[in-house]
Amino acid sequence: MSITILIKSSSQSEPRSVQVTQDESGLSFLCDCPAGIRGRICKHKRALVSADESMLYDEDQKDSFQKLMDWVNASSYPDLMKALKAAENDLELANGRARDIKETITRAMKEGLK
Ligand SMILES: [Zn+2]
Repeated sequence: MSITILIKSSSQSEPRSVQVTQDESGLSFLCDCPAGIRGRICKHKRALVSADESMLYDEDQKDSFQKLMDWVNASSYPDLMKALKAAENDLELANGRARDIKETITRAMKEGLK
């Protein structure tokens, strides 16, 4: 069984179309955006597995969205998304530390360092 959900696009006025299929393999997602066509996790697929209702293009799809959320919540996607968010948070903190150290080194290379 498949559900197609229209998701707002940041790059065009037309929505992106995400087809979600529930079958014996589990829950799979296809999106028609450039990243989605290449099979990548795009912001449209991510909006759906993150239950981000604000990304819905068509308010009339709320029932379909709710059915999809039942599928998502019965799968391992919520745990994976939690793990991804934690990893991205760690990455952001590490990037911040690297930036601070680079600034320190840059200043030291100008002003000298013992
Ligand atoms: Zn997409």
